[in-house]
Amino acid sequence: MNDRTPDPVLLTPGPLTTSAVTRTAMLRDWGSWDGAFNALTATMRRQLLDVVGGADTHTCVPMQGSGTFAVEAALGTLVPPRGRVLVPNNGAYCARILRILRVLGREAVEVPFDECGPVDAAVVEAALVRDPRITHVALVHCETGTGVLNPLHAVAAACARQGRALIVDAMSSFGALPIDVGAEGIEAVVAASGKCIEGVPGMGFVIARRTALEAAEGRAHSLSLDLYDQWRYLERTGQWRFTPPTHVVAALAAALVQYRQEGGLPARRARYEANRDALVAGMRALGFVPLLDPAVQSPIIVTFRSPDDPGWRFENFYERMRARGFVLYPGKLTRIDTFRIGCIGAIDTAVIHAMLVAVESTLHDMTLSSHI
Ligand SMILES: *Cc1c(COP(=O)(O)O)cnc(C)c1O
Repeated sequence: MNDRTPDPVLLTPGPLTTSAVTRTAMLRDWGSWDGAFNALTATMRRQLLDVVGGADTHTCVPMQGSGTFAVEAALGTLVPPRGRVLVPNNGAYCARILRILRVLGREAVEVPFDECGPVDAAVVEAALVRDPRITHVALVHCETGTGVLNPLHAVAAACARQGRALIVDAMSSFGALPIDVGAEGIEAVVAASGKCIEGVPGMGFVIARRTALEAAEGRAHSLSLDLYDQWRYLERTGQWRFTPPTHVVAALAAALVQYRQEGGLPARRARYEANRDALVAGMRALGFVPLLDPAVQSPIIVTFRSPDDPGWRFENFYERMRARGFVLYPGKLTRIDTFRIGCIGAIDTAVIHAMLVAVESTLHDMTLSSHI
């Protein structure tokens, strides 16, 4: 590789392709006491809160680390030690929540679903009715392991009817798919800098109901992942509690400006949907079959079945696509051999069409090499 090699396009669930403006925002250093940096943090918190309509009831607490750190902080701070969390499980990120709860020593009730389809809100509600000791539901909005979209609105309504708190891992949907924490009575939404807002990775955040945070003093299992303490410190001083990811915050602030300029959520959603539609149609034309029913396919990432060909090796396909400038993603299913292609990031249908041309020539090469 040399300086003239163009940057690869990342068609993955994060890190993803960012705009040059976002990357350029990182070309200066910030001190953590700097008033300008603290203003940047305050603006970022307010703008992230606005994405899910939480200004009156909720607050945005950023957390250093990848998205999982913020999920762990939310569960460890918002769920009391005697709490019991129902986890509808239809994929890898749901399984990660179950694992976090186990590590934290919080009681979990797993409700398993097929990983090729969405969770069923009626089944979730029946489980809540059966077990009044369940205090919280932890739902993954878009299960990035497959790309299936879970019925957030129906699950939120079930939680509201049954009087249980809902914590949503909206990591791969925040900013692209509508969420209204106020109207739907959601206790907390967790997401991260490096997904659909199109910042760079390195910071998670939790949009939490203020009254839930107020009740959580001294509850966290961890010093660094104590969301309450992080919130109180930020409110008191305007500064991050420990060293902030300054460049990540600067990039996210720039990404939020571009998000607004593009037209906010409706425009981002439309761009991702156009990417998904071009991707699915183009891959189908090349003989690939998507795993999911189109009705439950999110505009975030698409899982394809691996071709039924003895010569198929994803590693081989990946390397050839990488050499053509496109980074794809392996599958995450246990039973079916698959791979994934993302629709999110600073990309449009022109990029998808260029990628499809690369897939076609890669298939041609692989067929040739299998005949040698
Ligand atoms: C990306 C993602 C996460 C966080 O994963 P990290 O590896 O910590 O960034 C969590 N949940 C979902 C649904 C995701 O897509």
